[in-house]
Amino acid sequence: MVLRLILGDQLNYNHSWFREKDDNILYVMMEIKQETDYVKHHIQKVVGFFAAMRIFAQVLQNQGNKIIYINLDDEQNTQSLTQNLQWIIRENEITQFEYQLPDEYRLDEQLKFFSNTLNIPTKVYDSEHFLSKRNELAEFFKGKKTFLMENFYRMMRKKYDILMEGNEPITGQWNYDAENRKKLPKEHRPVEPLVFNHDVSDILEVIQKQNIETIGSINPKAFVWPINREESLQLLDFFVKECLPLFGTYEDAMATQYWSIYHSRLSFSLNTKLLSPLEVVKRAVAHWQNNQTQISIAQIEGFVRQIIGWREYMRGIYWAKMPDFQHLNFFEHRQKLPGFFWNSQTKMNCMKHSIGQSLNLAYAHHIQRLMIIGNFCLLSGINPDEVDEWYLGVYIDAIEWVEITNTRGMSQYADGGIVGSKPYVGSANYIDKMSDYCSSCFYDKSKKVGHKACPFNSLYWHFFERNREKLERNPRIGMAYVTLNKMPDQQRKEILNQAEIYLNKIEEL
Ligand code: FAD
Ligand code: SF4
Repeated sequence: MVLRLILGDQLNYNHSWFREKDDNILYVMMEIKQETDYVKHHIQKVVGFFAAMRIFAQVLQNQGNKIIYINLDDEQNTQSLTQNLQWIIRENEITQFEYQLPDEYRLDEQLKFFSNTLNIPTKVYDSEHFLSKRNELAEFFKGKKTFLMENFYRMMRKKYDILMEGNEPITGQWNYDAENRKKLPKEHRPVEPLVFNHDVSDILEVIQKQNIETIGSINPKAFVWPINREESLQLLDFFVKECLPLFGTYEDAMATQYWSIYHSRLSFSLNTKLLSPLEVVKRAVAHWQNNQTQISIAQIEGFVRQIIGWREYMRGIYWAKMPDFQHLNFFEHRQKLPGFFWNSQTKMNCMKHSIGQSLNLAYAHHIQRLMIIGNFCLLSGINPDEVDEWYLGVYIDAIEWVEITNTRGMSQYADGGIVGSKPYVGSANYIDKMSDYCSSCFYDKSKKVGHKACPFNSLYWHFFERNREKLERNPRIGMAYVTLNKMPDQQRKEILNQAEIYLNKIEEL
């Protein structure tokens, strides 16, 4: 009998493993504390994964496959991946062990090590999920100093012939980012997001009885995330019809009233592999092709770029740079993460709102993650280990390969410029331009110093001043130093002093 392991983020119904039923194959899936406890996760994330895994196992069983599903509270559950595998191999007279390449370095190492201890053969399969191989990016950029996403993205467009005419982009232009940066107009009401309504009380009860420590809140009678293939396809359909027409235009916009604006919220389905990136892109491109009078090229290009560009790029960076990547701390930041990250009790409205939404919904869209929460962490010099831990726990879609590259790389610049060519930082000016947060904030967006001065304003200049040696020669940052150098001494002193005051009472901000 062959034993095949399916990990919690390998819920790919279309994997070649499942094309034919074979009585000589036993599948195994497990809910284990090894996975719930390696970081403190959002309760919706744990529930979402277990719910999707249970349905996946049920579908496989209904199709006539043999499967062992170990529940979190099963008596035989050792709560360790490899110890569970050991007793299953022993009790079922397993003659071969097979698994799909894990997407996390941690699990990859664990399974490699485990396989070496077995006295039966092991076979490893591709997860058949990504559009590039694990080490494709490393090979693509071999010998290059910088890993420019744009170059990788163009290669992927050509390779998969997406929005292309021969070797050229279909409209003659590769990138429409410049058109995609609009604030949400005051009267504009985005479409109501499609949410699901699952009763997950039974799963929640097990998690609570097993004393799994989690963060965030959940409504167990109305769990909003898709947990099976049908719902994931429904969400994709909703996205292309209702959100794609304005996806790019308001991609960077933030609004107090609307939590996802025109974003797809497909990341959970994509990262658990309920949806494949190629089907998502093909569906979106087909819809655009049939509706070109209503949907501009900037919208579809913006979306395609996220999936075949950024998503594949981040995965490639992960495998090219792990395990060293997880320890990088370019700015040597050591500040502790303030307590308000766990309860959203801060007077900074942008942070209160973005953190609050993350804790309530296990979701924040890209710009909230990057330009509000990440921006604050970088400006205040928070230790990237703590930033990573928070991001890895809080989001429904957080799996290390895509979390750490975005957080430590893109957002915290802790990699010293592998992912981004400059740190993503902004003052209240940027936040006010892209959101409505500032108008109802305790702090004054236009003040740099004094009573109620917005913390982002002084921290912004403090960041550049304290990292002068590391950043001043970066040609993409030059302007910040030109402004800083031109500032009258007294003014600069006051701003830096204000930042110090804020950093010293960061818990009270
Ligand atoms: P949309 O805006 O609708 O985009 C469509 C899809 O494109 C996403 O579902 C995602 O699969 C992909 N995508 C977009 N941007 C990126 C990106 N930068 N990297 C990789 N894929 C991208 N994404 C995760 O999936 N898991 C994470 O743990 C995660 N952590 C992040 C941490 C930080 C600090 C930042 C700045 C970004 C992070 N992202 C992460 C990327 C991005 O913010 C999320 O993929 C996105 O917000 C998910 O929401 P959505 O499905 O509505 O995305
Ligand atoms: Fe955020 Fe400052 Fe605007 Fe308040 S004033 S919402 S703290 S940027």
